[in-house]
Amino acid sequence: MSTPQALWASVDAEVIATVDRVIERTIAPEARLVDSVAEFPSAGLAGLCDAGLGIMQLPTSIGGTETSTSTYAEALSRIAAACGSTSTVYMTQMHAAHPIHLQGSEEQIQTWVPRLCDGSAIGSIALTEPEAGSDVGAMRTVARREGDHYVINGEKTFISNGDRANVIVLFATVDSSRGKDGVTAFLLDTEAVTGLEPGVPMHKLGQKGASTVTLSFQDCRIPVGARMGEEGEGYPLLLRSVVRSRISAAAQGVGFAQGAFDALVAWAMQRDLLSSKIAEAQDLQFALARLRGEITAARAMLMSVSDLVDNAEDEPVAEVSLLKMHCTTLGTTVAARCVELLGPDGDLVSAGAERRLRDAKITEIYDGTNQVQSMLVARDIRLSAGAR
Ligand SMILES: Cc1cc2nc3c(=O)[nH]c(=O)nc-3n(C[C@H](O)[C@H](O)[C@H](O)COP(=O)(O)OP(=O)(O)OC[C@H]3O[C@@H](n4cnc5c(N)ncnc54)[C@H](O)[C@@H]3O)c2cc1C
Repeated sequence: MSTPQALWASVDAEVIATVDRVIERTIAPEARLVDSVAEFPSAGLAGLCDAGLGIMQLPTSIGGTETSTSTYAEALSRIAAACGSTSTVYMTQMHAAHPIHLQGSEEQIQTWVPRLCDGSAIGSIALTEPEAGSDVGAMRTVARREGDHYVINGEKTFISNGDRANVIVLFATVDSSRGKDGVTAFLLDTEAVTGLEPGVPMHKLGQKGASTVTLSFQDCRIPVGARMGEEGEGYPLLLRSVVRSRISAAAQGVGFAQGAFDALVAWAMQRDLLSSKIAEAQDLQFALARLRGEITAARAMLMSVSDLVDNAEDEPVAEVSLLKMHCTTLGTTVAARCVELLGPDGDLVSAGAERRLRDAKITEIYDGTNQVQSMLVARDIRLSAGAR
């Protein structure tokens, strides 16, 4: 795995070198198989966790690596370039651990975060419902208080790692008439509850090894101590959490673009097209130069917004939305262009670009669709203009 440009100043080169070793030894050799038979990428996740890279940004005292967000983003983009399924399973661990770290009790943090970091537990985050996702206030999964328990009823859908999860960060409403103000976060130990039924993994366009399932809750009783924070504190937690998960989607976009680009370069090298002076080869060389420019610019944007996440006083919500839109669109358009430049070979699994194209498309949709990101950016434009 290589990138043409030097690493960003805030990226830890040693961590990236370790990531590259795991990719080379464990993740890349399995990537095509993981995709073709939709196999959960346990070995890739274990390789990353065994190398001490379980969840990068969290403090070492609870099992994290305490790296910068830009180091995480660079690492995830490399993992995605090699294997989309592994990247999604890996980032979902962070998406589950981050809200626990932000709002869990000391006991919840100590019980789950080190296990998510070392890979002995799989985590999920469950927000989306058949009729609610973008519109969080429409949430219908209800947590009804009964003495020292909550009883949960409802259905979540499109939940990554949901059938594998030992721990689920669940967002449910304690009162659906309160809209967003009723949303409350809970932590579910899947081995300790009854009334929770995961569906079978969905058949998908891409990222086929990363399982995505429904979760049905039928009179699922959990102790009051499983709540994270107070009733009604789920929505602000969600807003803070999506800043991290949108960085992940953006990093994947850059990774899929890079993976497709690398596949095209390897193909061109085999055919001696990079040094040839014939017109068709030169057209390809110029196209590669433009694509490299687009990927380099997106990577620089990924790094600079990641630095903002670490250093800005307030969560840079609009910048992260802009980044998510830009990089995930880039993943799809660059991968599609690489498939096209490969000619008929672009259709071949062996060429490797078609997998990146299939893996890339969903990044434009999950973690808040790009239309929803546009709305957030438009609101920021309006607010900034009003403040002038
Ligand atoms: C592979 C995969 C993995 C996922 N993993 C998870 C997970 O781990 N946890 C989880 O909770 N969710 C997960 N999701 C769900 C995903 O995040 C949501 O599906 C996504 O955010 C879209 O939300 P929605 O389903 O409510 O779509 P909708 O909001 O119903 O979107 C449908 C269409 O309407 C458009 N739209 C919606 N609102 C507006 C508006 N106000 N103005 C204009 N257009 C609008 C959208 O852009 C989209 O085109 C996953 C989804 C997939 C496919």
